[in-house]
Amino acid sequence: MSRIKLLPETVASQVAAGEVVERPASVVKELVENSIDADAGSIEVGIQRGGMSRIRVVDDGCGMDRDDALLSLERHATSKIASAADLAAISTLGFRGEALPSIASVSRFRLTTREPGAVAGTEILVNGGRIETVRDGGEAPGTQVEVRSLFYNLPARRKFLRSETTETRNIEHQFFLQALAHPAIGFSLVRDEKVALQLPATTSLSARIRDLHGAEFLSDLLEIPEREHRGVRVRGWIGRAGVSRQTRAQQFVFVNGRAIDSGILATALREGYHTALMRGQFPVTFLFVDLAPQDVDVNVHPAKREVRFRDPARIREAIVEAVQCTLESGRIDWQRKFSAPSSIIGGTAAVSPQTSPSVPPLAAIAPETVTHGAPQEAFVNRPTQIPSEQRALPPSPLAGGGDSRSRPQAIEVNRPYLTPDPSPKDDQQFQIIGVLNRLYVLMENSDGLVLVDQHAAHERILFEELRRRMEEQGVPSQRMLLPQIFSLPPRDAEWVERNLTTLQKMGIGIESFGGNSFRVDTLPAFLEIADAADFLRRVIDELTATSRNSSPLRLGEDMIAKTVCRHAVKAKDPLRYPEIEKLIRDLLACDLPYCCPHGRPTMIQISHAELEKKFGRKV
Ligand code: ADP
Ligand code: MG
Repeated sequence: MSRIKLLPETVASQVAAGEVVERPASVVKELVENSIDADAGSIEVGIQRGGMSRIRVVDDGCGMDRDDALLSLERHATSKIASAADLAAISTLGFRGEALPSIASVSRFRLTTREPGAVAGTEILVNGGRIETVRDGGEAPGTQVEVRSLFYNLPARRKFLRSETTETRNIEHQFFLQALAHPAIGFSLVRDEKVALQLPATTSLSARIRDLHGAEFLSDLLEIPEREHRGVRVRGWIGRAGVSRQTRAQQFVFVNGRAIDSGILATALREGYHTALMRGQFPVTFLFVDLAPQDVDVNVHPAKREVRFRDPARIREAIVEAVQCTLESGRIDWQRKFSAPSSIIGGTAAVSPQTSPSVPPLAAIAPETVTHGAPQEAFVNRPTQIPSEQRALPPSPLAGGGDSRSRPQAIEVNRPYLTPDPSPKDDQQFQIIGVLNRLYVLMENSDGLVLVDQHAAHERILFEELRRRMEEQGVPSQRMLLPQIFSLPPRDAEWVERNLTTLQKMGIGIESFGGNSFRVDTLPAFLEIADAADFLRRVIDELTATSRNSSPLRLGEDMIAKTVCRHAVKAKDPLRYPEIEKLIRDLLACDLPYCCPHGRPTMIQISHAELEKKFGRKV
């Protein structure tokens, strides 16, 4: 007797539904995608009890005639592809022809649809996959799908649903994704008969982000200057350096208008942010990647959440480059925050240090400085402990000797200060007030109070200096007493083989020693490395874990970030005014001045408004 049977259509649909329809949010996703594919100008999503009792999606798209409406409920019936060849270049959101029959097989389902020119529309009622009624309907042009009692006929599935609140959140997340990906479509969300969100159609992504998240949120974002890198277009908005979250919840990534979960893209974002992100934090992104449909395979996941790229390295490069440029572009705005209030600059008090001040510097009035008798040097809270010739920012660990560029030191404490040897960015006037707890440099700007963490700032400065040196001349290395020979697993060995020159540039003297073995005889000079083989294994692990194609320079950056911390000015190191002034200027000249190489902020601002609130001047 034959043991193999063909499954009845309804059962086959329910099996397919297991993949496509996980929860109410997946129904919303599929229905909204259909509306978008139908060229809708506005889409309304209505839900009741977290979508468990009812989901309704109404659009004003192209609609269907009766034959198509009936066909749309058949498995593998689609208007979006016609042959296998079409799979190679999909430009619609749907293409599998599975969503409607799957949803209809696990719910009480109602479809009403009408083409714009047609006299009448069609209404179809389906119950657990069985078509019960087909009749004329008089709805407005477009399509309306209503899904009630999801999984009523699959109790096992229904049990997996979470609380009403959780399912509502999932739906809202889905709704947000679709609304973000398609700002040109008006969206509304009706929750338990109340309008929860109404998003007018707009031409700009930023307006859509603002409508969803608020204007304040938008002001934390930077627009990616639109760019194309070898056929990959990257656009969107991303969080400024220092803006991050503890979860991935606000990391939105779209490929060709489709919200995607992609390890490759997430890694590329991380890499782009690299030193601008604290450990364990995630960037806030609204990242849109557009590329030719042939270059991306969307047919790899039943719910189309994942894609496969033909050339992942190209995508990665495009994203890293876009993120880095964007973060750096936010710098000018940020630098402005260090400017002294314009009332002071514009007034008579703006004094260059070379001109002798007519008003006695405030520092001269401070008791310590009077006893010390040297107002120029007497900036720091405890100046008596710092003989001037001994204090200078510690030299860079790669530079060798001290800093020869120490500057003249006429100081005007509490006066905007004009540098004596202006380099391009040095025309800015600061208003340094003092140093708090030998750690935070206090400054005033037009918005209020600025605090700079001197240790974090110096770490950033050193980091960028070291990286520049590394790029220009490689890292100085140190010969080991005894060369070490060690072997690696085949894939790692192959990676090292391919990256020998880069590793050497990194100060690691490494060469092949036959088979999967290598010989190391020099290591980067500025690292204290006890066990060379162990160090290399970690370095290789870190690099290959990120991505086998990851930029090798990152390895250098990580090494530098680790060592920089030991050499930077520590909190509690008292600095003289010229040193502080130099620190601020050097920080402002950095590529990514906002944060130290570990992603901690270098500066925070406390606005006048916040101060006024604290002092009860304003509520
Ligand atoms: P797919 O979207 O993968 O083609 P579906 O099962 O989601 O498969 O839909 C089947 C077909 O029904 C679609 O190809 C489309 O032609 C039609 N359809 C579905 N929803 C709509 C809609 N809202 N407006 C117009 N046509 C629709
Ligand atoms: Mg579909």
